[in-house]
Amino acid sequence: MPRTVHMELLRPEEIRDEQKKHNIVFLPLGPLEWHGPAMPYGTDPLFASAVAEKTALKTGGLVMPTLWMGTERKREDEILRTKGFEDPLPYVKGMDVPKNMLPSMYAREDVFGVVVREYLRMLVDLGFKLIVIVNGHGAVGQRATLERLAVEFSNETSSKVIQFLPLVKINENDDLGHGTKIETSLMCCLHPESVDLNQFPAKPEKLKYVDYGLADDFVFSCHSSPDNAIVFDPRDADESLGKKYIDAAVAFLNEKVLEAIE
Ligand SMILES: [Zn+2]
Repeated sequence: MPRTVHMELLRPEEIRDEQKKHNIVFLPLGPLEWHGPAMPYGTDPLFASAVAEKTALKTGGLVMPTLWMGTERKREDEILRTKGFEDPLPYVKGMDVPKNMLPSMYAREDVFGVVVREYLRMLVDLGFKLIVIVNGHGAVGQRATLERLAVEFSNETSSKVIQFLPLVKINENDDLGHGTKIETSLMCCLHPESVDLNQFPAKPEKLKYVDYGLADDFVFSCHSSPDNAIVFDPRDADESLGKKYIDAAVAFLNEKVLEAIE
């Protein structure tokens, strides 16, 4: 094991030594983004960073400093209607509903692509043979951009690039959602001091999608919820649940890395 898995803390010789043993680098990334009033802005990249670090400690390899960047597109009209927005529909980018008090830091999709491209180029230049992008943010444009770059670099350079969003279901009926029960549980586990569930009204008051900029995952496939309110309630989050999903994420990513090495 190297003294630390964090690239920025290692000396050149230590980086070379680890590359001889495990020529792998993890690049965690994600945007600072609205996750409702109770959750930290860096939820997605904080999760990605933790999973990257824990996986590197298990699998070998080094971890790049987190790239605090991600992108979003305009939310489709059908999804906005499913969430309870009415005509005339507002312009909503990602999770930024009109009632949010702060915008998310969504980079333009083309700029995001260029920045990630440059990171990959530098990591190829450093001699890493396997580059693992650990993505914390599930947006369509984000995942498409990363997959496009992964395919291109894997075919056009001598390095292999893979990218995954490691938040995976444990049970078939899990709803991974945005700022709902499971994601809130992740932060209760990783950064409990940054979660304040008292920012929500007490139960049984419902949390409407249009009021909180949060969403169950099923609304993104246009399945509506009673009263247009959150079903997988962030007020039910708990640390031990979060730990289960973090462990599952590390096991998933570890398996993907081992597959890629073969
Ligand atoms: Zn998130």
